[in-house]
Amino acid sequence: MTRGLIFDIQHFSLHDGPGIRTTVFLKGCSLNCAWCHNPESIAIKNSLMFEENRCIGCRACETVCGNNVHFFTDDGRHKVDFSRCSGCGECQKVCFAGALKMIASSYDTENIVSLVLRDRGLYEKSGGGVTFSGGEPLLQAEFVSEAAQMLKEQEIHVAIDTALNVPRENIDLVMPYADLFLCDLKAVSEDIFRKYIGNSNERIMENLRYVASKKNVFIRTPVVKGVNDSMSELTKIRDVIDGLGENVKEVGLLSYHDLGVNKALKVGMEEHRFEIQGSGDFTEKLELFKDRGYRLLFDGSEVR
Ligand code: SF4
Ligand code: SF4
Repeated sequence: MTRGLIFDIQHFSLHDGPGIRTTVFLKGCSLNCAWCHNPESIAIKNSLMFEENRCIGCRACETVCGNNVHFFTDDGRHKVDFSRCSGCGECQKVCFAGALKMIASSYDTENIVSLVLRDRGLYEKSGGGVTFSGGEPLLQAEFVSEAAQMLKEQEIHVAIDTALNVPRENIDLVMPYADLFLCDLKAVSEDIFRKYIGNSNERIMENLRYVASKKNVFIRTPVVKGVNDSMSELTKIRDVIDGLGENVKEVGLLSYHDLGVNKALKVGMEEHRFEIQGSGDFTEKLELFKDRGYRLLFDGSEVR
């Protein structure tokens, strides 16, 4: 039985595929988007979150940590060198103030499947199911494949929410048991990818065409001011979607929010802040995607 590292399980999800769903968030991502709203999910191992405002300065964590991650300045301020943390979890056990938290927990496939099957009645009533998200769920493709196979044996709808920056073999492991792929299409221009996402988009584009040739696909595009919100970039995104064919059933534009900024600081990552736009800023942008044969959503609501 395979084990997976999971940082959240969300019940009653309404925006991660059709119907009411349970979304399982897997730890680890192969991209590093500057606007990420789950920065705690990026590290591909278990990692530590520190809430400074809860810390009572007891220094118990400093005593138990063998890696000198925790230290205190002369004026008593608790500092954390996240780069030295091995993710062992010892400091969390002695922090009674609740200032330290390990982000993920390990589950085996049987645990996770029996847990999500508790919501089976909701899936049946609503046409929902289970979505594997992240992070990047396809970095733990063996675990997702095994869990998805077990769910398909129970006739549960399975969706995979992926940015597709993974080897083709990982996709193929999951493909037989996936009913739907929710695919990010963050940008088309290589310079945007390299500057804001820290990667090339070549493999992602190839994987996107591959997945859309085989399964139903929902596309998700976060629109971030000054990054990918120009009409020219959005037109390129729209044209790529048009080229994917009739398996694209839904396209959702998502406005940027800054919920990830505070979380970034708590896990020792650099914070990036972008301008938040109102729905009025999207009127012209949404026009580009209307009447093209797929359902169009903006922040989860259908656009007509
Ligand atoms: S154990 Fe918790 S409360 Fe004590 S110093 Fe460490 S983080 Fe702060
Ligand atoms: S998780 Fe382990 S290595 Fe990381 S800070 Fe805590 S005790 Fe140190």
